[in-house]
Amino acid sequence: MTAYPDRQSWLTDLRSRIPEVAPAEALARQAQGALLLDVREDGERAAGTPAGALGLSRGFLELRIGQVEPDRRRPILALCGSGQRSLLAAEALQRMGYAEVASVAGGFERWKAEGLPIAQGAPDADAAERYARQLRLPQVGEAGQARLAAAKVVLLGAGGLGAPAALYLAAAGVGRLTLVDDDRVERSNLHRQVIHADARVGMPKTESARLTLAALNPRVRVETRSERLHAGNVEALLAGHDVLIDGADNFPARYLLAAASLRLQLPMVYGAVERFAGQVSVFDPRRAGSPCYRCLFPEPPAAADAPNCSEAGVLGVLPGIVGLLQATEALKLILGIGEPLVGRLLAFDALAMRFRETRLPRDPACPGCGADAVFRGYEDVARFCAAAG
Ligand SMILES: [Zn+2]
Repeated sequence: MTAYPDRQSWLTDLRSRIPEVAPAEALARQAQGALLLDVREDGERAAGTPAGALGLSRGFLELRIGQVEPDRRRPILALCGSGQRSLLAAEALQRMGYAEVASVAGGFERWKAEGLPIAQGAPDADAAERYARQLRLPQVGEAGQARLAAAKVVLLGAGGLGAPAALYLAAAGVGRLTLVDDDRVERSNLHRQVIHADARVGMPKTESARLTLAALNPRVRVETRSERLHAGNVEALLAGHDVLIDGADNFPARYLLAAASLRLQLPMVYGAVERFAGQVSVFDPRRAGSPCYRCLFPEPPAAADAPNCSEAGVLGVLPGIVGLLQATEALKLILGIGEPLVGRLLAFDALAMRFRETRLPRDPACPGCGADAVFRGYEDVARFCAAAG
């Protein structure tokens, strides 16, 4: 057996014995019937793989190739991340009697860089089973599920609206959820905030919600921020996310979210409930013509006109319905499917059991997004809310 002084001389020797083909050549040979074998690990392939390639991790290659391809005359092209592991894989296949084996030079990195066709990573066994009913939808499929897994949603409030929204977003496989809430669970929350539990009264809501979400879907990464939203932290809390679910229970928070949504170009899925009624809309600053929250409510109402749940009361199921409408819009935005609730305000009346939709055009004179709107900082937004309430 040859002993090599270092890795480089070993690879050089391998290259002298194993034919290498460029990715484009591999693609052409694949079309002629060659088997393209992606020997990277499951986790690496989850982020994408050459279209039509078969995944078989290097560690299982010798054990399973016989089942995967019993025909030793079929040409095989081994591919890895950068073209080194595939050399080792190809050598092993040669030794096992596969007659025509090559390694794809540059691996998946070069395949991607050259713009060759890529298939979204195949879901692993857990994901395939967990999301089976969703993967079956052509509008979602493996590509959509991968988009959900890569998505980051921030929920302001782990309460009435945030609780049902977070539950279903986690269940659907949204990869990262950030929960912002500085309250603790109270017994009076439990008739509607079903993410919490009686035994967790007194626990921070973010932590209580995290426990439930982790139990429901351990694949989801949940970040908790037990902070009160204010002018000084709003932008840092929201930055880096793809969608904002507004479950705020007070006007100053809403106006801060609205301002940050515009500044960060972050779509805001708005929801509000009171007694037996609720409303939902989507403010998406990335879309031309989308209104913002202040096109709907230019100024905060006086405190006396804006009772919150603790004062006015709310039927327990109501935030569940509205929170799930918000979750639905968030999933649609991430997946890029359907018609988002942009420029439309959907109102729900539980007693009449009626949904009513009104047009909500962008207001050219809006103090938030209008042509003459001037942003003077979040401190100013907070101040003008305080002046109203
Ligand atoms: Zn506006």
